[in-house]
Amino acid sequence: MDLVLRSGEVHLLDGPRPAAVCVRDGRIVEVVDRSATVDARQDLDLDVALLPGLVDTHVHVNEPGRTHWEGFASATTAAAAGGVTTIVDMPLNSLPPSVTVEALEVKRAAAAGQCVVDVGFWGGAIPGNLGDLVPLHEAGVFGFKCFLSPSGVPEFPPLDAAGLDAVFAELSTVDALLIVHAEDGAALTDPAGPTYPEFLAARPEAAERAAIDAVISGARRHSARAHILHLSAASALPRLAGTRVTAETCPHYLTLAAEKIPDGATEFKCCPPIRDDANRDRLWRGLADGVIDCVVSDHSPSPPSAKQGGFDTAWGGVSSLQLGLPVVWTEARHRGHALADVVRWMASGPAALAGLTAKGRIAPGADADLVAFAPDEEFTVGHLHHRHPLTPYAGARLRGVVHRTWLRGREVDGEPTGKLLRRDVP
Ligand SMILES: [Zn+2]
Repeated sequence: MDLVLRSGEVHLLDGPRPAAVCVRDGRIVEVVDRSATVDARQDLDLDVALLPGLVDTHVHVNEPGRTHWEGFASATTAAAAGGVTTIVDMPLNSLPPSVTVEALEVKRAAAAGQCVVDVGFWGGAIPGNLGDLVPLHEAGVFGFKCFLSPSGVPEFPPLDAAGLDAVFAELSTVDALLIVHAEDGAALTDPAGPTYPEFLAARPEAAERAAIDAVISGARRHSARAHILHLSAASALPRLAGTRVTAETCPHYLTLAAEKIPDGATEFKCCPPIRDDANRDRLWRGLADGVIDCVVSDHSPSPPSAKQGGFDTAWGGVSSLQLGLPVVWTEARHRGHALADVVRWMASGPAALAGLTAKGRIAPGADADLVAFAPDEEFTVGHLHHRHPLTPYAGARLRGVVHRTWLRGREVDGEPTGKLLRRDVP
């Protein structure tokens, strides 16, 4: 073996137990007893838990084009420091947006040689690019993102009802996944003023419910695969229960509450918005019930200048890639959830969503993406590797410290050894 990692708490698919994880050529070869004798070049017995590297399928890297917002080098360094060994990059906010094969290749060229963790790419579905979807699928994107309300950038417009139907029809021909920013533009209004309550009132839960209804019925009509991005409105959960449509939520919806957002603190602005505390409790219930499948960051940073002004005009996006694991674990633990639940929501769940069969699990045949994690250690949020330090979690006291991270059996040390991933072709 090249490497053996031993721990009293190895998080396997059926839960944690003492074990030794044996790695050769970047892959997990077998999982044996913690005390087993193994011939290996490097053999470490950890005094902390060993988790599969997390998979974050919702990251806006913004390079090329808005690299001064976030770039591949800074984003993937932050990811590794946070125990995330695979990210899947969103098709918008970078320029050009990933809505043609040509644009995808521009992005892949920009990312090449810079990535500290593995990086995959979503394609985009916008008005007018129906003919680009199957070629993008064949070029290896993991699925397609669309909006049903303005995205915040002019080069990535939303689909109307007929456009959504046409995209479902097209994607169903190749069984590709559609991931949807589910707010219905017709149910949104312009905020009446700059305060948080005015911003929240302009983006009601009804907008999410209406969009989710459209996605559920479109997916059903075309026997298509669909996923709801960054669910905030817990009142939509009963609609999703029992359907094939999957859903994610984000650390900020699970840990922050509208009532506690300070005046003018636009680092808390995102779309859909962070809602009240009672809503937050119901999102946790949706996770516990399995209606919400995964927790991903929606890391969408911007320069501090874009966050100036009120909640009506500031850029909407929360920066959190490096902090997702301790943020979610701190609150999950407080609510009586096990670390194994967090691993399911943040590693195996997102890997399954993207069809990343070699990621998000500690099992023979999987990539040796591993994280030494001290669940009981505490820290105060200080230096972050994100391009910009602005985050709603600044100064927060959190539980759970990432000690070391391995990518395909090699300890992450800042070298850009990350691979650019393509969708697994069966
Ligand atoms: Zn997003």
